[in-house]
Amino acid sequence: MIELQGIKKSYTTGAKPLQVLKGIDLNVKDGEFVSIMGSSGSGKSTLLNILGILDSYDEGNYTLAGTLIKDLSEKKAAQYRNRFLGFVFQSFNLISFKNAMENVALPLYYQGVSRSTRNKMAMEYLEQVGLKDWAEHLPSELSGGQKQRVAIARSLIARPKVLLADEPTGALDTHTSYEVMKIFKDINQQGMTVVVVTHEQDIADMTDRIIRIKDGLIERPETVIN
Ligand code: ADP
Ligand code: MG
Repeated sequence: MIELQGIKKSYTTGAKPLQVLKGIDLNVKDGEFVSIMGSSGSGKSTLLNILGILDSYDEGNYTLAGTLIKDLSEKKAAQYRNRFLGFVFQSFNLISFKNAMENVALPLYYQGVSRSTRNKMAMEYLEQVGLKDWAEHLPSELSGGQKQRVAIARSLIARPKVLLADEPTGALDTHTSYEVMKIFKDINQQGMTVVVVTHEQDIADMTDRIIRIKDGLIERPETVIN
């Protein structure tokens, strides 16, 4: 599903470029549930942003679902993002003046789906994350865990091939974090490829495979849990 070969990425802000990724080789198969671990500043978000076609890379090749993701126009990048990928972020990124159902339905609005169809589908995805009774509530009326479940439902509604989550439990307490990870596990068991970035070992331990990034490279051998 995901194939990275020799991915390099550096940022230039000051005089000297900072090389964050120094040659990442990584495969994630269709239907896998993996985590990417590493200390703060190790390049986890940089790597996930490349996987999410939110950022470009300098060298190497990235193939997603058989499509080479390289030197894309903004328009192509947006097309592939919408077709292949769902995103979940630490900060939920919900729209504060829209209720839970409207937030979940939003990706379908951009696809031109009618209001009644998208709201009906949004309710199905809210039900899947256990929030059917909270559809009319605004984000400010939801707990952190509930907000993240809304964000997960929103990420699923366009039926992506891969779900990418950057520190999805970073703003949640331990108990709520485990509940959110359980939802990722359920989604994965229904066939979705899921990639979770975390710096917490107990969170990574709930995935099937832990990829560690250090000094710009993947540490080998990887940890396979199941
Ligand atoms: P992590 O997610 O593992 O904490 P990041 O990928 O966010 O790490 O960052 C890796 C390194 O790249 C850090 O040193 C960070 O300061 C730097 N970095 C990240 N994004 C940018 C950017 N847009 N411009 C300049 N430097 C950046
Ligand atoms: Mg990060």
